Amino acid sequence: MATIFSKIIAGEIPSYKVAEDDRFYAFLDINPLAKGHTLVVPKREVDYIFDLTDEELAAMQVFAKRVALAIRQAFPCKKVGQAVIGLEVPHAHIHLIPIQKESDMIFSNPKLKLTDEEFRSVAAAIQSAWAAQHA
Ligand code: 5GP
Repeated sequence: MATIFSKIIAGEIPSYKVAEDDRFYAFLDINPLAKGHTLVVPKREVDYIFDLTDEELAAMQVFAKRVALAIRQAFPCKKVGQAVIGLEVPHAHIHLIPIQKESDMIFSNPKLKLTDEEFRSVAAAIQSAWAAQHA
């Protein structure tokens, strides 16, 4: 059965997309730790990130780097932190989170509750930074 992220990539389940290429898809986490919290996933469905091929993993990291640049442009922060957990959704993904301090990366912190309009505006800000990067 397809994972929820495969359904998102296929457009069967809506998402707030921020960037895409032929192999990877980036969209806002629905339970964000911060405005701009983004997930980067490979279109090829693989559960455990370290089961990706070396080449896929390297390409995914480079894609995530570009998304992180766009996030930081849209949401100025000290750094964009990166984490891989993957215990909830069995489809490899990288979390990218704008942070000011170490504790901003604690996953048990309360999540932001954003409205649909707020999610759209966060996604639009990152999308336009992404588009400017690729102009
Ligand atoms: P992990 O597998 O890394 O522990 O957590 C999965 C992450 O995916 C969580 O941060 C959760 O909020 C996010 N997530 C789970 N289901 C959905 C969904 O349907 N849409 C979006 N945008 N994010 C989701």
